[in-house]
Amino acid sequence: MLLATEPMAADGPPYLRSNAAKKLYINGQWTEALSGLTFATDNPANAQVIAHVAQGDAQDVDLAVKAARAALEGPWRKFKPSDRQMLLLRLADLIEQHYDELAMIETLDMGNPITRSLAGKRRVLGLVRFYAGLATTIHGQTIENSIPGTVFSYTVKEPIGVVAAITPWNSPLSQAVWKIAPALAAGCTVVLKPAEQACLSILRLAELIQEAGVPPGVVNVVTGLAAAGAALVAHPGVDKVAFTGSTATGQAIIRASAGTVKRLSLELGGKSPDIVFADADLDAAVAGAAGAVFTNSGQLCIAGSRLFVERSIHDEFVYRVAELGRQMRLGSPLDPSTQLGPLANAAQLDRVVGFMDSGKRGGATALTGGGRAMDADLAQGYYVPPTVFSGVDDQMEIAREEIFGPVISAMPFDTEDEVVRRANDTPYGLGSGVWTRDVARAHRMVGALKAGTVWVNCYLPMDPAVPFGGYKMSGYGRESGVDHLDQYLNVKSVLLQTA
Ligand code: ADP
Repeated sequence: MLLATEPMAADGPPYLRSNAAKKLYINGQWTEALSGLTFATDNPANAQVIAHVAQGDAQDVDLAVKAARAALEGPWRKFKPSDRQMLLLRLADLIEQHYDELAMIETLDMGNPITRSLAGKRRVLGLVRFYAGLATTIHGQTIENSIPGTVFSYTVKEPIGVVAAITPWNSPLSQAVWKIAPALAAGCTVVLKPAEQACLSILRLAELIQEAGVPPGVVNVVTGLAAAGAALVAHPGVDKVAFTGSTATGQAIIRASAGTVKRLSLELGGKSPDIVFADADLDAAVAGAAGAVFTNSGQLCIAGSRLFVERSIHDEFVYRVAELGRQMRLGSPLDPSTQLGPLANAAQLDRVVGFMDSGKRGGATALTGGGRAMDADLAQGYYVPPTVFSGVDDQMEIAREEIFGPVISAMPFDTEDEVVRRANDTPYGLGSGVWTRDVARAHRMVGALKAGTVWVNCYLPMDPAVPFGGYKMSGYGRESGVDHLDQYLNVKSVLLQTA
């Protein structure tokens, strides 16, 4: 099949130069989907197809789950914690060697500016090496009991089994390693279903996983549409689903997994409040509030998209954020000076523009942005400029729904109690931000905000050692942190009559 890839592929990374459709990675082999179907993935900067990818479905998922099960019960069991650690460290070294290429593939596939893709190296490598470290820390407990006689009791931790990892398109590589690395550290096996909109960097990662010597079947990658994810969730051979994506899909996964009572960890949507008090370092807060939403063109589950600003500084502050947004450089994601690339796909463009229209219809004013970028060089791609709406009411769609675009809804507030109530008045609870120089107030706000993460006088920093996850409908389970591995482990209690 001839693809419309030649012009770009010629100067793109070698991985994208072949016109052959990308294959599934099952049981250590690269195979076409059993159906023979493929789907196209495009470069969101110009809507040109850059690759065709095997469209796995339930039959391929079945093969992958069986391979993962066989590996779990076969060779993989013999890997000691230090063997798994060495494997993860070898994988990290390979990722490091090939990181520029991975970043380039990801930028071409999902539109993330190249500077940001490259900067993701610290996080991706940090995650893999963090979990490599944890692989040799797994332990149970000996427990003193009160049972009459001589019963000795202790616990052991065992890998939970076959993990279905289902990931979204907004940060493909880091999302993938955030699930694969802890699963391998714990001794599980994995079937990964990456998002269909941007899966190429993950397929290249799978080549590195193979090169690192991860045994066949331990990590399988089944590309495909939503149906492939649904088949994984329903498969009786899967023990746990680790999912990141929308709340609606998370709810569907909860329902679909009920039949086999699978373990779940869910990192879902958000509509996070970012709260600026008048006493804050306003220069830092302006930059932070903009970065909290314009980074990755707002395609962040933690985007601080509800910007609450104390009334006495509201107008000037929001004007400054809008001005900063107006000055940001939209452009080719490959250009190192670009600060905002396109949205990752056409459906997301429609969705974001739909929300912008809804904001305008509802009476909000776009201080900057407010519609698709139509400059000649941007109109071919899925570009929207940074947008700041003022005059937003708490009940408007743009103040309630996750937009996943570079859109800030700014709202004034008068008192601390009031802003806490309004900030928490959402079904979500993923991130939140507080900007103030008053330590006592910061402390009160940390206690009052119902969110899995509170950033104080900063927004966005994350670390492999610091737990991350949601309150309320933003999901359950925590990723990162030393306890993350427990989500990939079963606890077995042993009661042993010793005499
Ligand atoms: P988005 O992140 O685009 O809002 P989703 O949350 O639906 O969308 O997608 C995240 C991941 O979940 C993708 O890999 C997608 O293919 C997958 N997916 C979509 N629907 C389902 C489903 N019903 N069951 C399992 N996985 C799904």
